[in-house]
Amino acid sequence: MSVTACPACGSPRLKNYRPSRRTGRNNFRCRGCGLVGWSDRADLVLPDTVGLDEISVEERAAWVASKRDHAAEAAQVEVLDELGARLEGGPQGRLLYDIGTGDGQFLAVASKRGYQVRGNDLMEANVVLAAQSHGVEVDLGDLAFLDVPAQDAVTMWCVLAHVADPEALLQSSFDLLKPGGTLFLQTPRRSKVDSAALRVSAAARGRMSRWVDRRIAPHHWHLHTAQSMSAALRAVGFVDVEVIPRARYSLNSGAYLASLGVPARAAGAVGRTTDRLIDRGWAPRIVLEAYARKPGTLAAPAAVPAVEQVPADGGSTGGEPKGPKPGGLAAAG
Ligand SMILES: [Zn+2]
Repeated sequence: MSVTACPACGSPRLKNYRPSRRTGRNNFRCRGCGLVGWSDRADLVLPDTVGLDEISVEERAAWVASKRDHAAEAAQVEVLDELGARLEGGPQGRLLYDIGTGDGQFLAVASKRGYQVRGNDLMEANVVLAAQSHGVEVDLGDLAFLDVPAQDAVTMWCVLAHVADPEALLQSSFDLLKPGGTLFLQTPRRSKVDSAALRVSAAARGRMSRWVDRRIAPHHWHLHTAQSMSAALRAVGFVDVEVIPRARYSLNSGAYLASLGVPARAAGAVGRTTDRLIDRGWAPRIVLEAYARKPGTLAAPAAVPAVEQVPADGGSTGGEPKGPKPGGLAAAG
């Protein structure tokens, strides 16, 4: 079975590309909103959960360690500030739920900024890691089967492009929010490079598809445009939708190019140049970040959480200034 209607805007007007000669995969583009994706995605069945017998905590921890990087946290802080500005009275004591949260690192950052955090993940190893490494509570399993109270903020970092039914996920995130609550999501964007790569592959009758094969893959099965992302969010009832193209790279460019099959020496040289361009904001904006609000007025937080008396962390020499920390301060002074 293949995709017959656009998963963003519902249009049946899909252009089908020739299959990739490398992978045999078929891609489509929506003539309505510009979303591109993998046509045969409906065939892929994902497991409900992944147990420790399949991926151990040690394996997961090694993978997390290989990815850790400062750019990710800088982006998280930027997003949390933006999100907090959209919540009446700011983030203090606000409930934030991160769907598909991984090892809980983002929740730890959000917690330091005053949010009451929780999230879910399908991988049991992530649930263990979140508790062990970051002391945050993560629910195991799909949102549809969990009993989660209504939230002030819901976040999703690169989750939408992974799930079989993105419309259902957007609906679940809408349902999870309190009236007036805000959704943030990040998802891969159809950049100019992707459009060019699709044209090249089409002109070469399915050859020269390496870039397209990497960007539109089983685990990342559609790339949104600002238009398609807005349409998808409005379709489930969100208002005040803002979609922003960004150049965010979780790997450095050399590693990313190497993962695309660019030879190491060339990848290193091109990667260093690209990293400089990213720093200056000139690199292809390969992701979209979207904020959207559920209609209604957001009520004040139920209770201001007690200020935790956290001693300076173990290794600290106690030389820190006594000023307010970005985290634990409750609004009541
Ligand atoms: Zn569409």
